[in-house]
Amino acid sequence: MTRPPFDPATEADVATVTAQLGRPARNVIGIAARCVCGAPTVVATAPRLEDGTPFPTLYYLSHPAATAALSFLEATQVMNEYNQMLADDDDLRAHYQAAHESFLADRELVGSVPEIAGISSGGMPVRVKCLHALAAHSLAAGPGVNPIGDLALLRAAWSPQVCECLDYAPPAVPPAEA
Ligand SMILES: [Zn+2]
Repeated sequence: MTRPPFDPATEADVATVTAQLGRPARNVIGIAARCVCGAPTVVATAPRLEDGTPFPTLYYLSHPAATAALSFLEATQVMNEYNQMLADDDDLRAHYQAAHESFLADRELVGSVPEIAGISSGGMPVRVKCLHALAAHSLAAGPGVNPIGDLALLRAAWSPQVCECLDYAPPAVPPAEA
């Protein structure tokens, strides 16, 4: 887990994230969390992209197995359950608000973008809209910061402690037939 300031991502990291996403990884400012094997699981993206577009999602879940596990949870009505928990539990709501503020403070350290001031990620601070974004925040910040992201990770079939990485290297050129 890593919060700003980030070490610059290496070329190999950016190549891995590109392979994970299936599209060029752009405006990468660091790797916020990694698999036990060292492969990126959460990529940190600049709050203003090269073309000027504001980009609120500082922490983005890039790992295919993690993404699939959280998509599975989203498909099983878990977000409705978490939204109900937020509605019912004052302490949880306060903790989630604090997670929102912590996320914004992290992003402010890497750049201040007025168009997205006060806008964090995943539905924070009052709703649960994207478990991928909330889990990415939890993986970057570590346990205890984002209560909903923590719950989603505990429930997910994927764990950062168990490597499920594919070989992200581009396919080798097949040997010429003898
Ligand atoms: Zn791995």
